[in-house]
Amino acid sequence: MNLILMGLPGAGKGTQAEKIVEKYAIPHISTGDMFRSAIKEGTALGNEAKTYMDKGGLVPDEVTIGIVKERLSKPDCEKGFLLDGFPRTVAQAEALETLLNELNTRLDYVLHVQVPTEKLIERLTGRRICPTCGATYHVEFNPPKQEGICDNDGTELIQREDDQPETVKNRLDVNIEQTQPLLDFYEDKGYLVAIDGDQDIDEVFNKIDETIGGLA
Ligand SMILES: [Zn+2]
Repeated sequence: MNLILMGLPGAGKGTQAEKIVEKYAIPHISTGDMFRSAIKEGTALGNEAKTYMDKGGLVPDEVTIGIVKERLSKPDCEKGFLLDGFPRTVAQAEALETLLNELNTRLDYVLHVQVPTEKLIERLTGRRICPTCGATYHVEFNPPKQEGICDNDGTELIQREDDQPETVKNRLDVNIEQTQPLLDFYEDKGYLVAIDGDQDIDEVFNKIDETIGGLA
């Protein structure tokens, strides 16, 4: 079962990824984890990626794709994988097609967890931080006992710059614009499945489960 999970920040991708890997026993492969372990293992590509990252630059596609290839060739991917955060561009998606061909396999589904932008803004702007102890809350999903006050030390909670509505909206707009060509690419290939992410976590998972269950 070879899957890609897509969705905007706040769409609940992380939660769904956990549920998928738990039920289907395939590895959750996020770009960050992949880079971190390649660097830790000291592979040639890992070292190369590190030199770019240390300089604060972007890792070139050929290095990233090499790292993806090494990762997908590991024994734990024999039953499949759940990719998260890769590919980011159509060029990377095309490289992934070639790579999967070389590995004698192919994608099954690209799951796109969709939540209306206004809902995402609500979710993403609800975070509150305690400047004293660093505890994080969410006004709706994880509120403190007393509104605006840290449970641990009584400090007044703050909203980070990153979580202000304007900043969040800009981040989402950029993300939507960058993701659209990739969604179009997978739509054309017939892999894309829209999952309504604007419902209970369990309901979202049921929809995913119905979609991919036939593959198991
Ligand atoms: Zn605190």
